[in-house]
Amino acid sequence: MVVLKSPKEIEKIHASNQIVAKILSVLESEVKPGVNTLYLDKLAEDLARENGAKPAFKGYRGFPYSLCASVNEAVVHGFPSKRALKEGDILSMDFGVLFGGYYGDSALTVGVGKVSKSARRLMNFTEQALYKGIEKAVVNGRLSDISHAVQKHVEDAGFSVVRIFVGHGIGSSLHEDPQIPNFGKPGMGIHLKTGMTIAVEPMVNEKGYEVEILEDGWTAVTKDGGLSAHFEHTIAITNNGPAILSARDGSR
Ligand code: MG
Ligand code: MG
Repeated sequence: MVVLKSPKEIEKIHASNQIVAKILSVLESEVKPGVNTLYLDKLAEDLARENGAKPAFKGYRGFPYSLCASVNEAVVHGFPSKRALKEGDILSMDFGVLFGGYYGDSALTVGVGKVSKSARRLMNFTEQALYKGIEKAVVNGRLSDISHAVQKHVEDAGFSVVRIFVGHGIGSSLHEDPQIPNFGKPGMGIHLKTGMTIAVEPMVNEKGYEVEILEDGWTAVTKDGGLSAHFEHTIAITNNGPAILSARDGSR
């Protein structure tokens, strides 16, 4: 069941997402060769608590950390570790909080120091695909218009979209209906309505779309070892178009 939110509820979801946005900006500024992701995880958790928020992922279905830190061929749900990041790595950071009864959820992929041209291109296209999807999140549009816009942008660039993970509704639960695949034909699925709050989150692989889960039970990696990138925003569908609640520049 899709839960529509009132303007007041959307304000609360915005507040929660702005905490996420601020923290992701701080984390981004800390990413450099020699830093480890366990440090970033602790920083994220400390900053959330300083803001009166609770890290949303820690303990979620048993996930042991506050931050999902996925390096290079890791797609999503990577465990933070003591291993130092090195020049040329790419790091996907997915973070969420619960604040005032509502969830925030956002992700980005950043380069560690100087990265290869192909890694930069993968990150750029993944972020662009997120915005292509968001553009389709309009009243009277269809759910799969978002999916299709993401897939088209990614595949036109020669990359592939991960199939087994999806975007999702978000609100007083971290994951609500509807599920939002990053692929599909346009014009299908539910009609989009004012008051829907959703997390759009393309996961894009340099090569094939297949992934496998490591023995830790969480970390998803590309099957062929190619790089993977992930960008996510929580948005609200409004009469004035999509509002990006987790925008890191304060706009929406
Ligand atoms: Mg997320
Ligand atoms: Mg999400």
